[in-house]
Amino acid sequence: MALSRERRFQYKIWPRGDCWEWRGSRDANGYGFFRDGREMRRAHRIAYEMAKGILLAWPMQLDHLCRHPWCVRPSHLEQVTHSQNVKRGELPRVMAAHNRRRALNGRGQL
Ligand SMILES: [Zn+2]
Repeated sequence: MALSRERRFQYKIWPRGDCWEWRGSRDANGYGFFRDGREMRRAHRIAYEMAKGILLAWPMQLDHLCRHPWCVRPSHLEQVTHSQNVKRGELPRVMAAHNRRRALNGRGQL
């Protein structure tokens, strides 16, 4: 008997610390992949969908709160739009640049 999709998926999850690491194939960015029917899909998206009982619409992305791309623990994932995800990644850099500029301006006024 063939294993169900859920069983095949669960076999590839390995809890480590607080995270659930993906033991299947990964892409260059570290995201896990899972063969879902004929498609190869991101493993963390499938984990999230299974946990929530929903299907994610294309523009929605999942942000890893734990910053491990191969973690598939649903409680470590949060739905965000693409632009939110980009902003979150950029924000620390943007703030650092802003603070540097402010420091320079302060000296420039002397
Ligand atoms: Zn995690």
